[in-house]
Amino acid sequence: MFEALKEQPADKILALMQSFKEDPREDKLDLGVGVYKDAHGNTPIMRAVKTAEKRLWEEQETKAYTGLAGDPLFAERMRELVLGDTVEAGTVSAVATPGGTGAVRQGFDMVRMANPDAVIHVSDPTWPNHLSILKHMGMPVAPYRYFDSESGGIDFAGMIADIVQAKPGDVVLLHGCCHNPTGANLSLVEWKHVVEKINEVGAIPMIDLAYQGFGDGLEADAAATRLVAESCPETIIAASCSKNFGIYRERTGILMAVAQDPAKKKVVQGTLAYLNRQNFSFPPDHGARLVLTVLGDAELRADWEAELEDMRTGMLELRRVLADELRQRSNSDRFEFLAEHRGMFSRLGVSPEMVEKLRADHGVYMVGDSRINVAGLNRDTVPKLAQAIVDAGI
Ligand code: PMP
Repeated sequence: MFEALKEQPADKILALMQSFKEDPREDKLDLGVGVYKDAHGNTPIMRAVKTAEKRLWEEQETKAYTGLAGDPLFAERMRELVLGDTVEAGTVSAVATPGGTGAVRQGFDMVRMANPDAVIHVSDPTWPNHLSILKHMGMPVAPYRYFDSESGGIDFAGMIADIVQAKPGDVVLLHGCCHNPTGANLSLVEWKHVVEKINEVGAIPMIDLAYQGFGDGLEADAAATRLVAESCPETIIAASCSKNFGIYRERTGILMAVAQDPAKKKVVQGTLAYLNRQNFSFPPDHGARLVLTVLGDAELRADWEAELEDMRTGMLELRRVLADELRQRSNSDRFEFLAEHRGMFSRLGVSPEMVEKLRADHGVYMVGDSRINVAGLNRDTVPKLAQAIVDAGI
């Protein structure tokens, strides 16, 4: 039977990581994989997470199963973190999932159960895994215009024109903050407009929130998600704890479904738990327990917020310095968008040939669509990147 299997395309980012490893050049620069790195190139365990882990080791007395939805306290704390007090607790169904990816996958699963004809409208471009999961599931996809590579900003008129093509019951997938791969984000005024259009056509918004705290701050990064959840009759939210808690390998995420009609909660919650049961039964607990411990302890929470804020402002500073270096070296402000973008990523908006030239001539590794991970830089490597970009004639 196995001979019938076909080779699957290699994940481009993982392949890039491999060729970076094999490159003997000492001054090579890895701006590929989407993991936060400090100035020394390390992905640290956050202080509060480490303390929570120690506490857990000392105090935890059983590893018996939790519930199908995970620990309800995790869901409670995450609801507060993501939604604040914008919606009633009684309107939110939630299950813990293996990472944000698990939440995204299962969100799609729920959509398909409810409406097998639903088209998923995705930004052009979007996180490639959205597309590959949807393809794997055989779900129809329609891209909406999003990134304007000329300006490095958003083609907002194009976005709206495409979103209004959605049919009632279709899903519009939106990045809650820190758009991956482009780094370009809607203003709150633009979000309001998008919400109006989604409601007008009767589509359902699904928010992928993978970088809360990496853009403008924990509260500001949740503002769009909150606006959507309080303005639309139904909202699906897939949130990841991988980046903001630095617990990538623990696989910690949550899928929330907000229905303004609380009568829907029982069946929605039951459906989410059912999906957990079919796909993997009980969700991973370790990362979720670290998160609920940190969020539930005033001291640990304050320390976590402070460290996250340092990471965020560090990335912002790198953006500023890179944009300045590029202005000086290229004598133009066409790279100013790098300082406007938010989160770990920015799309430079250059051709795959240029990306390959940067790799071959300068040892600068980025994803083929010209996405750079700003956290892969530090104060010493920013000038090198700026010079390489100018030398490559971008
Ligand atoms: N959505 C987006 C847009 C992402 O960039 C990521 C992380 N690369 C995820 C979801 C999910 O991450 P994880 O499964 O590691 O929590």
